Amino acid sequence: MSVSDTLHQPVTRSPAAAAGSVIQLQALRHQYGDRVALDGVSFDVRPAEIFGLLGPNGSGKTTTFRILSTLMLPSGGRAMILGHDVAREPALVRRNIGVVFQAQSIDIKLSAQENLMLIGHIYGLHGAALKKRVGEMLSRVGLAERAREKAETFSGGMRRRLELAKGLLHHPSVLLLDEPTTGLDPGARRDLWQYLQILRDEERVTVLVTTHLMEEAERCDRLAIYANGSVVALGTPAELKSEIGGDVILLESNEPDSLAQRIEQRFGLHPTVLDHQVRLEIESGHRFVTDVVEAFPGEIEGVSVHKPSLEDVFIRRTGHRFWTEESESDANSKD
Ligand code: ADP
Repeated sequence: MSVSDTLHQPVTRSPAAAAGSVIQLQALRHQYGDRVALDGVSFDVRPAEIFGLLGPNGSGKTTTFRILSTLMLPSGGRAMILGHDVAREPALVRRNIGVVFQAQSIDIKLSAQENLMLIGHIYGLHGAALKKRVGEMLSRVGLAERAREKAETFSGGMRRRLELAKGLLHHPSVLLLDEPTTGLDPGARRDLWQYLQILRDEERVTVLVTTHLMEEAERCDRLAIYANGSVVALGTPAELKSEIGGDVILLESNEPDSLAQRIEQRFGLHPTVLDHQVRLEIESGHRFVTDVVEAFPGEIEGVSVHKPSLEDVFIRRTGHRFWTEESESDANSKD
């Protein structure tokens, strides 16, 4: 069966999809040789939500993305999109998903319009219907004026928008994007996110996006936070942060371990030491700061108080920072 054959069959939905989940992962596992990349990941993505996979480099986001986009078979567990198993029914899955990869997939020697016409032909679209759809998509992503120019003349943000138009040309109801804003300047990032929100609100597209950027994760409706191939937290950004409550305090000291121990004895709290700083989660942080500075005069070199962030959620669930040397070196070894 060709891609175009499968694309023009009626969309079928299984009972699982009808029950309200667009994407379902059930104990999904993957190994590259001996290396475990996914260690039993489960979550559901609901219709028309922007769902983020947030995790440091090497945590398993791209592996999940490759499995969902039917590029790779999982070693174990299941992944379903609209009730179709990605491993058993890849053609049906492909018909319903749009995919935007990290690597460039447009041909920069072709114009924006030619790029979309080409992909349209691959999907079995022709003639006036294809032309109409291409025009529609180009204006959607703000490229109508540049339709006839070669993509090599485009900025990074414009190329990424063309990638998006390409992924959406066949009207998929699910869009998968792997770190879509890598290399984009802040303005282009904002534009892309705004566009994802329009897609969700106006066309009810379900969006799954991977990111290692906290500020992007904040824009998602719900998140799965990854660490070492597992999901360590799942929920809306607000829910996840509210589990910490109060404030996060960081104390600089020349002897952080000893200070942490004495804070525990004196105040009955349970501070941790992270990167040579004493860290505490506490209600009314500003009051505690006064008490602790008075209790240990001359020992505290610096103090900061902040409202809980998604990084604090990560620290609480894993005991370490989001960016470690290990995740940096993993990123470099893949480059
Ligand atoms: P992320 O997208 O979060 O950076 P990945 O899914 O790419 O994480 O990687 C998860 C783990 O699998 C890492 O330890 C990474 O080094 C490893 N890995 C990824 N791709 C390959 C590959 N093709 N061969 C071997 N190991 C890989």
